[in-house]
Amino acid sequence: MSDLRDLYQEVVLDHSKAPRNFHAIENASGDAQGFNPLCGDQVHVWVALDGDTVKDVSFTGNGCAISKASASMMTQAVKGRSKAETEALFTAFHRLVTGAGDDPELLGKLAVFAGVSEFPVRVKCASLAWHTLKAALEGAKAPVSTE
Ligand code: ZN
Repeated sequence: MSDLRDLYQEVVLDHSKAPRNFHAIENASGDAQGFNPLCGDQVHVWVALDGDTVKDVSFTGNGCAISKASASMMTQAVKGRSKAETEALFTAFHRLVTGAGDDPELLGKLAVFAGVSEFPVRVKCASLAWHTLKAALEGAKAPVSTE
């Protein structure tokens, strides 16, 4: 468990310092903004769909290391997946960070976020980007709030 905790800290630090896919997408199929008032995290997620496949996904925003790292790793995890696979991944991720169970095979690298389940106030930081991605896929125009 302590190995996983070290890896978690390393991964969060790496992705929050150098977030991947950190830009807007021109002519996106959908985008949405999300806020976590509890922590002050803000995220804007863009998706470009090719039929039912997430061809490209990106984000920008400001927030704590966990919110940024989670958004960064999310973009890497869902690129190339179908909408249904993306939803299944979100469900598995949410179960993981709330301590409801894990599915290492499905989660892959996202499994390091198991560390979040020890800090309930961080669950919203970790899941903000996912909620916002879901809204972007659904074409929502109203901002998402975790509150
Ligand atoms: Zn946060």
